[in-house]
Parts: sequence; C-alpha cells; structure tokens
Amino acid sequence: MLDIYPWQKQQWHHLLQMQHQQRLPHALLFSGPEGTGLNQFAQSFAMQLLCLSKKDSKQACGTCQSCQLYLAGNHPDKLMIEPEDSGKQIKIAQIRELIEYVSLKSFSGNTKVAILDPAEAMNRATANALLKTLEEPPPQSMLLLLSHRPSSLPITIRSRCQRIEFNTMSGPEVTEWVNSQIGDTEHSAELLLQLSYGAPLKSLELLEDEQLEQRSIIIKDLKQLSKTGADVVKIAAKWQELGCTSVLGWLLRIIQDLVRLKLVKDKANIVNIDMKQDLQDLVKPLDLRALVQNYDLVHNKYQESVGLMNYNELSLLEEVVIRWNNPETVK
Ligand SMILES: [Zn+2]
Repeated sequence: MLDIYPWQKQQWHHLLQMQHQQRLPHALLFSGPEGTGLNQFAQSFAMQLLCLSKKDSKQACGTCQSCQLYLAGNHPDKLMIEPEDSGKQIKIAQIRELIEYVSLKSFSGNTKVAILDPAEAMNRATANALLKTLEEPPPQSMLLLLSHRPSSLPITIRSRCQRIEFNTMSGPEVTEWVNSQIGDTEHSAELLLQLSYGAPLKSLELLEDEQLEQRSIIIKDLKQLSKTGADVVKIAAKWQELGCTSVLGWLLRIIQDLVRLKLVKDKANIVNIDMKQDLQDLVKPLDLRALVQNYDLVHNKYQESVGLMNYNELSLLEEVVIRWNNPETVK
C-alpha cells in the first residue's frame, strides 16, 4: 500500500477537499526540499485518483483492479517521466511521449495521470514543448510536476500549475517517525534531522554510504588546510572520490556552523552538535570575513554541481581547497 508520510497530512486533505468539490486543476506543482517525500506523495495521490472503489475516498482502497495494477507498477493510466540518467536532463522525446499520452483516452474511463520528476530537469526547449499541454490540458488529464527548486522553473510553467508546498518539518511527530526508522544507531534522530535541515528522508540517508564519516574526514581535512604546507591537490582528489556534491553539501553545513561559532561563540546554535569541540578548534585561527567569502564560493559551486551544466569536478574542488586560506586571491 502506498501511504503518505505523517508530515504530509495537511497537503493531502487540501487536495481531497478540492477533489470533492470538483475543483482540482489539471496541473499541480508539488514543491519542497529533497527528502520531504514528494515522489511518494505524488504516487499516493495518483493511485487515489485512479482507484475504482469509492467506498473510502480518503485514500486508494489498495484492492480494486486499478490499485492492484498500480501497485504492480504497470497501470496504463499512469506515466512517469524522469531523467533516464540521474542528474541529467529530461529529453524532448520524453515530453512528446507525455503529450501524446495525456491526449489519448484513458483505459479505465478515469483520469490519466502523468508525473514529471523533477520538473527542473527540463531545459528551456523541453519546458516550451510542455507549455501548450499546460495551457490547454486534455479533459481528464492530470499532470503532477515535482520540484525541489521551483524558482529555477520558467515562470510560464509555474504560472500554469497550482502549487502545493511541502516544507521541512520539526516536532515530536517527525522525530518519532525518524526514530522508528533508524533502529540501532549511535546517532540521535534529533541530530540527523538537524543535519538534514528537517528533511526526514534525507536524515535517513545520512546513515547510508558512510555519510557521517565523510563529514569527519572533511573537518579533518579543513584542519590540515589551515596549516601551512597542506597538500591541496591530494585533498581535492580525495573529496572528488567522496562525491563532489555531497562534499560541497557538508562544507556548507560546516561553514555555516563556523560562522555561527565565530559570531556568537558558546551561545551558537550549531547544527553539527556532536562535533562542537572539533569545530571550535577549527574556527580559532580563521577569519570571519574569509569564512563568509568561502561560504559564498562553496554555495555557488554547490549550485553549479546540482545544476544541469557540465562541469569539471576536480578543478571545481581544487578551487574550493585553494581558496580556503586565501578567499580573496583568486577570482
Ligand atoms: Zn482501489
């Protein structure tokens, strides 16, 4: 059965209400940070739209023929459009497939649902190709666009979708949910949620692929960099091996904490609460202005790395490493 997450109830009720009042638009834009479960929410909603049993219309029944097809992953009235390779663009041929798909009659006499995830994987040409369908949607079609960075979508796309926002969450319900998922670990749900900025699914990912170990390695490397004679090329190569975007994400969280520690010292409300002593040692010789400049640089590089443009990971990381001590020397 496809369930929504406990932090998505409000958005779910809102959509059901529109559905009951028969004022659901033909295109919805679900937006929210990574790790808030947009895909599962969209899938649950699509399954509910297609469910043939209306006994309990608050959610899909899970047993009718439509639900069974959906759960088996081959419902003919649902189309999923994703980049063929993760992090790459959605191809124009995929958008053409979507346009043709929603224009055909549904198999069940019900809605035809297309889910586009993530919408920011469309470039200008693909977004333009979709516009006409958004402007004049075929009857009984439903487009669900998912986005972690809605501001990067063309305004023409955004303005034709009704936006449903998912924000990061805190509170006992979310902490309890994370706790129920993590099992036996030395790290607390509170720490994991802090480090993931309150994105519950992201907080679980931190326990995979030695993510938290990466953080310790990066903090150690930054200590090395603050000394003279550090091997910058070697450190950049190591970071590339750890994963460029992942390292930049950690650097952002670490530098934010360093700025906090520099500004308000002991009263700093830092995110890496378990590494406070290491960060206090690291921040001592550092200059506040240089830290802020480094933050801007890493932030730009992070945006570059999650964007659709091609870039050279090693030279990008080398620039970050070289500028750590000399933020003003390189342009
Ligand atoms: Zn059903």
